[in-house]
Order: sequence, then C-alpha cells, then structure tokens
Amino acid sequence: MIELPESKVFANEGRKLFKHLVITDVKALKSPHSFCWMNVEPKQMEEQLLGKRVVDVKSSSHYLRFMLDDGSELTIGEDVTPEYKSLLQESPKHQLMLTFQNDMILEFKIKLYGFIIHGFECDLVKSMPYYKKAVEAIDPLSDKFTYEYFMEATHLASSKGTVKQALATDQKIPGLGNGILQDILFDAKLLPKRKINTLSEDDKKQLYHSVVDIIDKMTTFGGRDNVIHFTGEPGGYEVLMRSDRALCPVCGNTLTKEAYLGGKVIYCSHCQK
Ligand SMILES: [Zn+2]
Repeated sequence: MIELPESKVFANEGRKLFKHLVITDVKALKSPHSFCWMNVEPKQMEEQLLGKRVVDVKSSSHYLRFMLDDGSELTIGEDVTPEYKSLLQESPKHQLMLTFQNDMILEFKIKLYGFIIHGFECDLVKSMPYYKKAVEAIDPLSDKFTYEYFMEATHLASSKGTVKQALATDQKIPGLGNGILQDILFDAKLLPKRKINTLSEDDKKQLYHSVVDIIDKMTTFGGRDNVIHFTGEPGGYEVLMRSDRALCPVCGNTLTKEAYLGGKVIYCSHCQK
C-alpha cells in the first residue's frame, strides 16, 4: 500500500527513471480486477496515453502522479504496485502496462484496491473527491502542518471517537493510513483504541510530533521495508509494528494484533496506553 512516505520516495525515483520517456504501447485492464477504479474505459485509457512523453513525476499525499507532455497526468493511488523492468519480463497479470521507447515496461498491479486515473487536474478535482483531497491536502512535512492545523483536521478536541478513528479514517490526513499508523502510535505510546477525550494536552502534542517525525523518518530512509519500489528493492525504513514480529522491540512483551476499523492494528499493551 502506497502511503505518504512511499509516494514521496517513488516520485523522486520516478523522476529519474521516467522523465523524457515516451509511451509507445499501452495495455489497460488485460486482467480485470473488481477493485481497480479506472476513470475511463480501458480502450480509451490506451488511446489517451499512447505517444505521450513523461515530463515529471510528483506526489500529492499518497497519490503518485506521472505528468505528461500535454498537461494531463496518469495518477495511481492506494494498493497499486508499480514495477519497472524489461519488456521480456511482462507479468501474466497486470491492470495497466506502459511500454517505453527503451523496451522497458512499467506495470501497475493492484492487490486489494486502487485507483488508476488519467486526465487533467482541473477536471479530476471535479470528478474524483479522493483525488481532490489528496492534491489539496497540507503536507505533514511542510511548515503549514502546524499543531493547530493537526488538531482541526483530526477533530482531536472533540469528545467522541478513538485515536485511530481520529488519525486514519476518512482521509483526515490524506496518505496517513493504517499502514504507517502503527509505528506512529507506538512512537506516541498511545493505543489505537484509546478514547480521545481521555488524552491530555501533552498526549496530543506528542501525537502531533510522532506523526511528523515518523513520516519524516520513513521518507528519509526511502519508505517502509515492506513496500517494494519500481525496480524490486524494498524501502530502508524498518517497520517496528509488523505482522511477522511477535515481541515488542522495546520491552519484549507479546504484541497484540487485531482487526479494528478497517485493517489490522498492531500494538504493545505495555508500552502504549
Ligand atoms: Zn513494549
């Protein structure tokens, strides 16, 4: 799942790999997927992308945007895996495949669900509400992401709900999803189910700092180590709260893993309160 840190890292890598490449062939939805949301019919997607040159790759929240020479963009988001490799290595299944003039291909594969959209920003903001949220969001690593903004965006001052609900539901901070939430809450020493009306002012400030610090750390280290990059390499940030880890890396207590509000939460009931 591409979340905020990976979209930033992928944009930097993508700019180096794809800038100036021309799309010489397109295959759209050769393998249909129930949860692949394309904003145009596959045939139309193929026609629209053919012959376009990539002029930049950028990120907005968790959306990765391939900017094309006619001002349009091919944008992906959520659980989409991009793979860049030789034409000879085409996978049996993919939801979109671009071939470039260097005989390399860029495949997009969807695991659980994902967006693959093409169009102009001015049109997409009108027709795609999640895209609009992603491109208009304030980046948690920018100066505009103040404590005051954080409190307002997450409704943390309200009396209802839990910490996970406040941070990682309804795209309150686009790109902060269940994946990166676990390490943020471990850093903040707060449980996902902690009621927000029991948080002290210090807890809220710590939570704000953990959001910024952990996203910054994940980005600096090239994304999480359980997300695979264009050329098959994993990121360099070691995820602490992970499915295949049994014990807390700090206290050695057994980690709790359970389904909660769409996605599995992983936490240490000794370190987090
Ligand atoms: Zn612990």
